[in-house]
Amino acid sequence: MNTAGVNTVCVVGASLAGLLTARALRGQGYTGRLVLVGEERHRPYDRPPLSKDFLKGAIGEADLALEGEGEELDIEWRLGVAATALDAAARRVTLSDGTSIRADGIVIATGAAARELPGSRGLAGVHTLRTLDDARALRGDLESARRMVVIGGGFIGAEVAATARDLGLDVTLVESGTAPLAGVLGQSMAEAIATLHERRGVRLVRGAYVTELTGTELGGTELGGTELGGTGRVDGVRLADGTHLPADVVVVGIGAIPNTSWLEGSGIELGDGVVCDEGGGTCVPGIVAVGDCAAWFDPAQGRHHRVEHWTGARQRAAVAAATLLSGGTARPEPARPAYFWSDQYDIKIQFIGHASAADSVTVEEGDPADHSFLAVYRQGERPVAVLGVNQVRLFTRWRRHMETAPVQAG
Ligand code: FAD
Repeated sequence: MNTAGVNTVCVVGASLAGLLTARALRGQGYTGRLVLVGEERHRPYDRPPLSKDFLKGAIGEADLALEGEGEELDIEWRLGVAATALDAAARRVTLSDGTSIRADGIVIATGAAARELPGSRGLAGVHTLRTLDDARALRGDLESARRMVVIGGGFIGAEVAATARDLGLDVTLVESGTAPLAGVLGQSMAEAIATLHERRGVRLVRGAYVTELTGTELGGTELGGTELGGTGRVDGVRLADGTHLPADVVVVGIGAIPNTSWLEGSGIELGDGVVCDEGGGTCVPGIVAVGDCAAWFDPAQGRHHRVEHWTGARQRAAVAAATLLSGGTARPEPARPAYFWSDQYDIKIQFIGHASAADSVTVEEGDPADHSFLAVYRQGERPVAVLGVNQVRLFTRWRRHMETAPVQAG
């Protein structure tokens, strides 16, 4: 018998959050049966390089492995199989191959999927980027492409644009807002990122909406209507003002949606992701959620929200494992402020906290015009977020400060 009567744990989602929670369970002394279910055929791999070094061809698939060499966690792998339903009361997971798993503890770690442009599925030359298979397909297309249009200036869009420029492509980035990353960094700091891309030769189209994909055999695929895709090859995108942007390859980077549809009707509370307390516990005892699919309660913000970043999944896995093994009695350390990094060209962007909570932002070191600076976002006198652009050492000091500062309700 294991801690809190847990003899079988089923982890659903075999990626960063799932693997790290499995590792944490073993690290915390769990010796029972451990089943890891993953829809993808691949062993767990790291996603951040998919838009950077892997896409560029600087590293290969073996470099993406998340398991340590020789690591043995005594896991029963069920790869290439999706969970299709959950009976939360009975703690039974139904799988796409018709089998099911009854477990004492369940970890929901199904992450998120790239949001698609309705009408674009199946069109050659149109890509989203979330999985290794997506990255392989995009990398293949880049070998012969000359012109790329990126739709959406979030992280994935901005990183793919940078990588494609580094590879010598002619790149246009279409952003519906005022600047790439404005939603996370705020307008004034996002302007520095916009300038970075423009100086590196990206044509930035701001405040623009894509209404149509054009191409051979497409005859103009109007977007936003039906879910129907096509069989032709894209040759450009049309904007709402009629502008046509020619493209051999189009990358759609318009956000991600939590993979929770398999939980509908299960008894698990869903909002924007799986609604969890500050230890990852769901509304059903014995079931926790972690990673991009999970909206943990954040005492500093006084609300539930998802953290779609690598470090969020990493930091929370051990907490979720402790919640599961203790039967919910473990008192978690307060989660640290959300942190992410992004590599674009030779620039490292690092950010911690929430810009939306700030009423001022000041550059404390360097100059945004040089793409080497550190900015602090404050609410009154209190720092609520910090941005570092090619300022790794100074940012690391600020990060430590932000992570150890007492939590205050926002
Ligand atoms: P995921 O990695 O999405 O894994 C979820 C897994 O669950 C997937 O393998 C999926 O197939 C599987 N699954 C889904 N539904 C089911 C089901 N019903 N049954 C079984 N399995 C299922 N973060 C940063 O901080 N910095 C970066 O620079 C950065 N770069 C990124 C670049 C790219 C291209 C991408 C896609 C992400 C990037 N991220 C970055 C984000 C980071 O990779 C994610 O936060 C992290 O992968 C989240 O891990 P996860 O395990 O929660 O979800």
